[in-house]
Amino acid sequence: MKIVVLDGYTLNPGDLSWEGLSALGDLTVYDRTPYDQVVKRLEGADIALTNKTIIDRAVLEQSPNLKFISVLATGYDIVDVKAARERGIPVSNVPTYGTLSVAQMVFAHLLNLTQHVAEHAQGVAQGRWLASPDWCYWDYPLIELAGLTMGIIGFGRIGRTTAKIAKAFEMRVIAYDAYIRDSGDPDIEMVNLDRIFRESDVISLHCPLTPETYNLVNAERLRMMKPTAFLINTSRGAVVNNADLADALNRGLIAGAGLDVLEVEPPAADNPLLTAKNCYITPHISWATRSARARLMQATVENVAAFIAGKPQNVVN
Ligand code: NAD
Repeated sequence: MKIVVLDGYTLNPGDLSWEGLSALGDLTVYDRTPYDQVVKRLEGADIALTNKTIIDRAVLEQSPNLKFISVLATGYDIVDVKAARERGIPVSNVPTYGTLSVAQMVFAHLLNLTQHVAEHAQGVAQGRWLASPDWCYWDYPLIELAGLTMGIIGFGRIGRTTAKIAKAFEMRVIAYDAYIRDSGDPDIEMVNLDRIFRESDVISLHCPLTPETYNLVNAERLRMMKPTAFLINTSRGAVVNNADLADALNRGLIAGAGLDVLEVEPPAADNPLLTAKNCYITPHISWATRSARARLMQATVENVAAFIAGKPQNVVN
């Protein structure tokens, strides 16, 4: 079996091993593959592994030997799964590997907004404390989470895990999900979107990007939020209208944002969020703890092994 990894670098920049996959066949790993080289690199391949490299109908038509695709991620919108199905090619994904890591990132962003640890530490390193007339000082309002309301949009795996952590901070949790009516927890009320935007002190987004959730957070909804509220987005960038959010931050309609995802990644230099007030952006790294990537690697090895054994698993098409 010839196995080709089109873009392995972000999964394994060198701290994990490809051995599990190489034990299953003749493995070639490319760090990245530009779209115009995908067909050439898949020549003769039986199995293709991709993270963000597009495998569309045109690529499939020119890759007659291809028998299986495994996506090195949960989201599989980069593969034309319908065209693959028409050609009898199963496409598998890794449904869950990073739930705890993503939920942890929600609080990394939230705690940054409430206590600004890195900025205070930087100030101390620059001599601010030495020069302080008082025995302590702070440069930002310091905010306790206990008693604040966390509004979760998308009450799936990551949303529920985020709720659990929020409750440990003694936050009140409310949630909205297009498909879930009962949270299963008497302390967590399922509410409509309007209530999420009006009542929350912190809104955390955990729905997938779909036509329904595209730009779900827009100017109109941002205007409903409390001026003291924070928005955290670790889901997909386009769930938020980036220009509307930048405007809301700059006008003080909300107090701050912690974002791990943007509408276009990497962003264009003119994305207004890059310079917006109280906006902290990380480069789509919620998924990328070593533990989560190791689980992703292991699950991919299992996907490929299952296909070779004639029983493909985690098939999405
Ligand atoms: P999940 O499928 O377990 O949960 C998603 C929830 O969203 C489901 O309960 C679903 O009913 C709900 N939903 C669907 N459409 C909705 C709508 N229109 N309005 C409100 N809710 C809706 O997924 P998950 O594992 O919790 O992941 C959530 C999202 O997090 C993923 O879709 C992905 O985009 C994102 N993610 C980001 C990273 C990262 O590195 N930043 C990593 C993993 C996942």
